[in-house]
Amino acid sequence: MKKKVLVLGCTGSIGTSTLDIIRSFPDLFEVAGLSAFTRKDELLKLSNEFGCTNIHYPDAKISIEHFIQETAADITVNGISGAAGLLPTVSALRAGMDVALANKETIVTAGNLVLDLAKKCNRKILPVDSEHSAIFSLIENFGTDAVETIILTASGGPFKFMESHLLSKVKPQDALKHPTWNMGKKITIDSATLANKGLEVIEASILFNKNGNNIKVVVHPESVVHSLIQTKDGIIYAQLSPPDMKHPILTALTYPSYQHNNLEKLDLSRQFSLSFLPPRFDDFPMLNLAYETIKSGGAYSIAYNAANELAVQAFLEEKILFTDIASITKIVLDQDWSMVCKDFSDVSEIDSLARKITGDLF
Ligand code: MG
Repeated sequence: MKKKVLVLGCTGSIGTSTLDIIRSFPDLFEVAGLSAFTRKDELLKLSNEFGCTNIHYPDAKISIEHFIQETAADITVNGISGAAGLLPTVSALRAGMDVALANKETIVTAGNLVLDLAKKCNRKILPVDSEHSAIFSLIENFGTDAVETIILTASGGPFKFMESHLLSKVKPQDALKHPTWNMGKKITIDSATLANKGLEVIEASILFNKNGNNIKVVVHPESVVHSLIQTKDGIIYAQLSPPDMKHPILTALTYPSYQHNNLEKLDLSRQFSLSFLPPRFDDFPMLNLAYETIKSGGAYSIAYNAANELAVQAFLEEKILFTDIASITKIVLDQDWSMVCKDFSDVSEIDSLARKITGDLF
């Protein structure tokens, strides 16, 4: 039987890659629903191509949550960007779907609540972020008890070799040129500041139940090694493939089995080299701030995410400098965020509060 797939954020980079996978495997998958936040024309074209009239756009009469509840699907691919991705994840789990999750904010802001809900609904959260997909597969194979340290790779973004004093002069168009991955604007800026890696460190700590000391980051400009684990005996194991989000999406869609495919494979018959270097913590403070939120617990990661999201928007609008993104986030994190969220409405309340406090800084 074909797996029915609901694609949220279908015109974005994750959605587009997901639909490419579905096109390649018409016998395995069918589209059960499509949603888009912008680009309505494209949504309608896709609806036509996949013969799927179950679609959602912000001008629809029903909310996205209601749309998800009404959709009969086995799995939702959540490619919505930003904090707006949280409630759709919750709705999909409640509607009995597994969630292939590309929206890291879901885990960063409400990870423990979401994991509890998934357990209660007997559904799976399958990480689609390339690093977490790699770690997920490695841990599946080695077992949680064997794995001591998670090592996330980072491309390092376009400024990994830029001199410190030049970072404040960076313009949005410079930051939007990502060397290896082709993604949306928000995540591309996050890659340049290392906030994306910061969010991923937080995400990994929740998904894989590790504290900050057991999660390391290494800059790996080629983006071929998607992440590594170190087992208790000190040996390191890695997952490698060419940088293409279709790999982790396919892994999530076919879990727990593996599927032959036509995606590009790593060609070991040609000479190539892989490099690794430590992150520049002092020049890219968003990474250390993320580690601090893990240590502080409570709602610090919600504040980190909200402050960063607003600061990135302000940078894109050229209202603040590139280096202000981290300074603003730091000011917001200096407030008290030790409160613990008991439910999703607490999460959205604290998220709004953090946005208000951040907004007042501009
Ligand atoms: Mg990633």
